[in-house]
Amino acid sequence: MIVLDGTHGEGGGQILRTALSLSLLTGAAFTLERVRGGRSRPGLLRQHLCAVQAAASIGGAYVEGAELGSQRVLFAPSGQLAGGTYRFAIGSAGSAMLVLQTVLVPLLHADGPSTVTLEGGTHNPMAPPLPFLQSSFLPLLRRMGADVRLRLDRPGFYPAGGGRAVLEVTPSTLRPVEVRRGSGVTVRAVATVANLPPSIAERELKKLRRQLREHAPTLEQEELTASLSPGNLVRVEVEHGDEVACFVGFGERRRRAENVAARVAGQVLRWLESGAAVEEHLADQLLLPMAWAGGGAFDVDVLSEHTRTNVHTIAQFMDVPVTLEERGEGAGVRVGRNALR
Ligand code: ATP
Repeated sequence: MIVLDGTHGEGGGQILRTALSLSLLTGAAFTLERVRGGRSRPGLLRQHLCAVQAAASIGGAYVEGAELGSQRVLFAPSGQLAGGTYRFAIGSAGSAMLVLQTVLVPLLHADGPSTVTLEGGTHNPMAPPLPFLQSSFLPLLRRMGADVRLRLDRPGFYPAGGGRAVLEVTPSTLRPVEVRRGSGVTVRAVATVANLPPSIAERELKKLRRQLREHAPTLEQEELTASLSPGNLVRVEVEHGDEVACFVGFGERRRRAENVAARVAGQVLRWLESGAAVEEHLADQLLLPMAWAGGGAFDVDVLSEHTRTNVHTIAQFMDVPVTLEERGEGAGVRVGRNALR
């Protein structure tokens, strides 16, 4: 039995999700003590509980502590991974995309194809928003060999949630990949509103056009319908070679649209300047698929505590070395032994 400490490093829900995925993949049981022990409200929130239940249902697992607020989870998978039709509903605006990430790689190894309906938040700050997965994470996973598609049925924003997305996964094998900064970049800025005036998106795009002018961004306005809550986000997708780096910022009450756009533009410019292949969020999310594929490499402009913590959690389940060669704020990340040579 692997015993994990939920206060380690970043101390949040990612330790749980990585453990669930790797437990399903390796068949190893684990106990997580002090779940989300680094947070002011520790224990399982709805999103985390849904991830535990989702993992348990595809892996036929025996589970203890699957309750709201629980600070200890024991998870023992059956060793079988069942493909099929699933519906996982968070029951709040918690991120359904984080539940998706928990089951995605395990479902690549299931005994058949899967169609997974995910309900809850689809566009959340502090989590990968659906357009980030669609534009950046999933295309890279497909390059690694994954047969996976994701579509949005209805957007879900905080506080009402109520979003729905459908993930389709066909069993496939992941290959190691090296991600490099491609030469030349194409920059696309998209400002999205739901139940809010289009003028917010116009102001954001105006700011982005000015701040990113030397990269001549294309500008797009998007209006999402059928959302239960109002919502606003801007994203900048930077296509370079075969990859896309995606930067997202969310509008908030009492925060000027121009400031939302300016913060995202600042992240984009810093990343472009750094020469790194991957931005901070993709970095922590790539580690698990790369470790499972047996190899991978990339440079990241900002080495986050999430990335460090994920390296630690992965090492509890797998004997695949992950090395972080720190360079200023960023790092060169290498996964596996010689897998890329
Ligand atoms: P808590 O930290 O409260 O336990 P949690 O379980 O929702 O919350 P974390 O453990 O903090 O979440 O993990 C958040 C994940 O969301 C990380 O993988 C991080 O890279 C990702 N993420 C956060 N912001 C973005 C963003 N703007 N774009 C893409 N991914 C993001």
